[in-house]
Amino acid sequence: MGKISLEGMEFYAYHGVYPEERVIGNSFVVDVFIVTDWEAAAMNDDVNETINYETIYQICQAEMRHTVQLIETLIQNISYAIRRQFRTIQTITIKVRKNRPIPGHRVSHSAVESTESFVNQCPRCQRPFICYNDDTCWCFEKQVSSETREHIKTRFQGCLCSECLSFFAG
Ligand SMILES: [Zn+2]
Ligand SMILES: [Zn+2]
Repeated sequence: MGKISLEGMEFYAYHGVYPEERVIGNSFVVDVFIVTDWEAAAMNDDVNETINYETIYQICQAEMRHTVQLIETLIQNISYAIRRQFRTIQTITIKVRKNRPIPGHRVSHSAVESTESFVNQCPRCQRPFICYNDDTCWCFEKQVSSETREHIKTRFQGCLCSECLSFFAG
């Protein structure tokens, strides 16, 4: 297990509910904290499984340009994009601060923070494994026919850990 964070990413963006926010914009600060399974990456010696700062930054930058009304939505979008890119995330915390949120008043910033955990129990062997539980999940990356995948999803009502999956793949 390891922790990776990228903190204090500053962006100028146009998120907000009010028309003036969407025209004038605001400055935002984004922090991303990830608890990851480094062993999985090291074991497969796969650079794609190593979470790197540059990609996280680029994802945040792209999502900041994609204007939304609510910071909660922005956080979901960033989380979704990061999960699509990396398969070994156990927990992700994203915090977004909006500087000077109330024009004309002395308020330094507002903040929204969200933590999601993706450690689930394998329904077959009861061991913990990482599953994102939506269309970003990497569980079926291995060679399992779509037929087998549907069979597993119906029988176990979700994904299985990689050991159990290789049993079905073999
Ligand atoms: Zn299992
Ligand atoms: Zn899954």
